[in-house]
Amino acid sequence: MTLALVACGSGAKQRTRHAIDHPAFSGDSAYSYVEKQLDFGPRVPGTEEHDSCVIWFVDKLRSFGGEVEVQEGVMVDYAGEKQRVRNIVARFDADSAKSRILLCAHYDSRPWCDEDTEDSWYQPVPAANDGASGVAVLMEVARQLQHKKANGERLRANVDIVLFDCEDMGTPRFLKDIDRQDTWCLGSQLWAKDTSLKGRYNWGILLDMVGAPGATFYREQYSEQMASAYVQKVWYAAADLGYDNFFRDQQAGAIVDDHYYIGKALSIPIIDIIHLDGTTGTFPFWWHTQQDDIQQIDRATLQAVGEVVMSQL
Ligand SMILES: [Zn+2]
Repeated sequence: MTLALVACGSGAKQRTRHAIDHPAFSGDSAYSYVEKQLDFGPRVPGTEEHDSCVIWFVDKLRSFGGEVEVQEGVMVDYAGEKQRVRNIVARFDADSAKSRILLCAHYDSRPWCDEDTEDSWYQPVPAANDGASGVAVLMEVARQLQHKKANGERLRANVDIVLFDCEDMGTPRFLKDIDRQDTWCLGSQLWAKDTSLKGRYNWGILLDMVGAPGATFYREQYSEQMASAYVQKVWYAAADLGYDNFFRDQQAGAIVDDHYYIGKALSIPIIDIIHLDGTTGTFPFWWHTQQDDIQQIDRATLQAVGEVVMSQL
């Protein structure tokens, strides 16, 4: 994703916290799903590692009771080349719920560490946070949905989990003479071409870089524009769970991420939960570098994000 502009605004009005029960979610389990993805190696589109990981996603989501489909298509990449895209869609229907929520994350690893030192530019990003973390939280959400169903618990919404491919193939920073537009988020751009999805979702949540120790999530600007009521609902839920140290009630800049294309094309109110560094207002130090590895993953952060998502289901 790219950062269009950053301006951390002031905090919102004071609000009384209403402590709520912590929904079932295992940060340990989510952590193991990060490890599993890293075990494949970087999930760069067009590689065997990517292929193997897709097979694992499909099997795993089916084992959790999801109705799984792979949406396959072709998009043009930064270099003007055709790029095969595979999005994984898993549907979890509740018995009586009428609303439907979209939960999504990208799973591909960026082929270049273009924010790293020059000797690493042509190395893929391990993508523990920027790829595996959001998916890992959603895999654990899927497992929890299965538990809830088995226990006869009522779900407030039907859930579609969508794992996007080719989010992170945007033009490498070291290639200065390419000015092609919309080179990021190829998977969600493909998905958003399906106009039959219009009206299917009441709202949605995108997770991106949600596993780092002490991660901070701000109210991202496109999310505020497209779905401010849902941003507020989710940030309030986080505060009620005691997670306002992660979910900061302050505005951040606009980030061109998968939610931007989905919201624009399909008019789905969708929010992005994404890590920005509170002091610099930009992405964390490990972003698009070799350092985005398992060292940058903390179970406590996965736990917080997972509980906040589960509180909405
Ligand atoms: Zn990225």
